Amino acid sequence: MTSSPAAPTSAPHSANGAGVLVVGAGIAGLACARALRDAGVPVRVVDRGRRPGGRMAGRTLHGRTVDLGASYFTVPDGSAFGEVVARWEGKGLAHPWSDTFTVLDAHGTGGGSPLESSRTTTGPMRYAAVGGLRSLLVDLAEELGADEERRVDVQLEQAVTSVHHDGTVDGSDDGVRYDTVVLAMPEPQAARLLAPGSVVAAALDTNAWEPTIAVALGFAERTWPADLHGAFVEASVVVSFLADDGDRRGDGAPVLVAHTTAGFAREHLEHPDGAVEAVVAEVSALLGLGESARPVWNHAHRWTYARTTASHPEPFALHERIGVCGDAWGDRSSVPTAWASGDALGRAIAARR
Ligand SMILES: Cc1cc2nc3c(=O)[nH]c(=O)nc-3n(C[C@H](O)[C@H](O)[C@H](O)COP(=O)(O)OP(=O)(O)OC[C@H]3O[C@@H](n4cnc5c(N)ncnc54)[C@H](O)[C@@H]3O)c2cc1C
Repeated sequence: MTSSPAAPTSAPHSANGAGVLVVGAGIAGLACARALRDAGVPVRVVDRGRRPGGRMAGRTLHGRTVDLGASYFTVPDGSAFGEVVARWEGKGLAHPWSDTFTVLDAHGTGGGSPLESSRTTTGPMRYAAVGGLRSLLVDLAEELGADEERRVDVQLEQAVTSVHHDGTVDGSDDGVRYDTVVLAMPEPQAARLLAPGSVVAAALDTNAWEPTIAVALGFAERTWPADLHGAFVEASVVVSFLADDGDRRGDGAPVLVAHTTAGFAREHLEHPDGAVEAVVAEVSALLGLGESARPVWNHAHRWTYARTTASHPEPFALHERIGVCGDAWGDRSSVPTAWASGDALGRAIAARR
């Protein structure tokens, strides 16, 4: 991985029309790059961020990493993603977190706090990462860069500003013409890079994307049950999901991360810190925390495009030199969907060469 801009002609695969540029080093972009690399196609990845990860992001807060994006991921039966997850497990990076979460009804049903009348729900195993989910994508990016013969550069802090139908891009490697440019990002972000009315732009659904604000709350000590794990919150206008970050990361830190509802996030997108007070009050009410158990620190992170509510049945879009992949393509908006979409697009591009 590198964060220094490369000269347009320095990469062996960036001669005109010779390779693929993947824009976006989230899980879809890295899966796409991996499939291309495995098929022997020259590929390069750029991302505007300082680190890979996209919405599997975390941040160091008060001395430890806190997951602020995706809360966990699942592994669909028989999916190729399972092999990648098994490798992460083998390296001690990822681990099964829980298949059972709490369900909290914000109104409560028994007169006490919603926690007292909570129930549990069991579903697929949810996986977490000891170093935060981003560490898994750092590992993927490092693996792509480590292959001596088919090395894939993942270049950071490179924002692409537009993508043209002839395979050229602005903002990164101006003037280089790629066989294919892949946009591995939320559709509203991809649409901004494309000419309005182009075939691929017309295939995007930019209206179904919902925001959320993730609020990390650090406490002096843990005063909630050890088996809370994650909690789906029903009937709250403020909070939709609550994760015990110390539990999922395995260090037992007294840290919760609340995700707001989309409606509440819309009211606070301009100033996410303005959401904190209401989130603290809602979390305290949900868990029945007393005044003495107020958080000692907090951090709010805005996700303008957290997820889409309208997935495409197709696994990706690909027309001539431009492809789009990500969590909007396939099953519901999620980490395994984004992986499968990127992987499928990489294979499709390789197959047509
Ligand atoms: C708060 C939250 C909670 C979630 N919870 C879960 C969960 O529990 N389980 C689950 O499975 N999924 C969850 N998700 C969804 C999951 O995070 C996404 O489905 C998945 O990470 C999407 O990956 P992606 O690669 O498609 O896109 P992204 O991760 O968004 O990656 C896109 C990348 O493109 C880069 N980029 C964008 N524009 C440009 C540009 N112009 N130039 C260069 N680079 C650019 C971005 O920097 C980013 O790194 C959650 C998401 C959020 C936000």
